[in-house]
Amino acid sequence: MKRAGKWRKPFCLLLLFTILLCGTAAFLHKGEWWFPILYRLETREELSLVAASPPLSHCTLWTQEALLEQDNVRATRNLMLVNAEHPLPEDYEAELVLYRGAQMHPLMRDDYIRLRDEIQRETGVRMYVVSDYRTSEEQQEILNKSEAGIAAKVGCSEHEAGLALDVYAPHFDGMELLDSLSGRMLSRLCCKHGYIIRYPAGKEEITGISYEPWHLRYVGRPHAALITESGLTMEEYLEHLEVGQWYRTEEYLIARLPQDRLLIPDGWERCELSPDNMGNVTVTLRYADAQTLSNLLRNRSN
Ligand SMILES: [Zn+2]
Repeated sequence: MKRAGKWRKPFCLLLLFTILLCGTAAFLHKGEWWFPILYRLETREELSLVAASPPLSHCTLWTQEALLEQDNVRATRNLMLVNAEHPLPEDYEAELVLYRGAQMHPLMRDDYIRLRDEIQRETGVRMYVVSDYRTSEEQQEILNKSEAGIAAKVGCSEHEAGLALDVYAPHFDGMELLDSLSGRMLSRLCCKHGYIIRYPAGKEEITGISYEPWHLRYVGRPHAALITESGLTMEEYLEHLEVGQWYRTEEYLIARLPQDRLLIPDGWERCELSPDNMGNVTVTLRYADAQTLSNLLRNRSN
């Protein structure tokens, strides 16, 4: 008995050491299981947006046509929701530009290049596009080859909209992307460049799609940061934006407005209009700086 007791302590220490070593190795090298948990813990589940009431005396009622004729107004598709409940309009035509063999919406290209270059600077690894714009025939082919419930139905894929990119790092694609530093960095850096991980872990019931750390959706600024920092999905984000209500974050004002009632505050430097694919127009106004916007909201003209 005495002899057995003598070895118990070193044996326990060795066992503990082995468990710690295996745990650390798994933690460092198999990002797939721990990264989504850690990533989720970093989010706040609330938006850095406050409701704002611009004074009516400093607002103008526009038609979309008249607004789009103004300088610094851009028609985008950044906030167009595309999912099983909100398919692409029948007459939808993707606007596309070709970059190194990948077709994407023209407004996404420069930000994609910036994102890819930043990841390469940080990790020394270059990321590549594996799937870009798809025709409905190509989406049907993918659907035919996939297990039921994995691929989006024809007309319901962001790839058909030309607004999404699937990316990979050499030797790491699909879920293995999270085993690479560059893949994990993609999740953290993409929002800085206007992209979101569109199908996050733990939100499958809302998006209808399982976790895809490789699928990037372009939503532009400041929406990408708001969505990513809050941990909300695009569905939840748009639902949060009550139609007709303005919201403020830093130097931006954001609203979802009925198409026929674009009552818009004055004094902005840039204005972006995007359909939400639910019958409304999302308006994103950027002011010169946060102070200029505060002055407007306090009903003081500059
Ligand atoms: Zn995809």
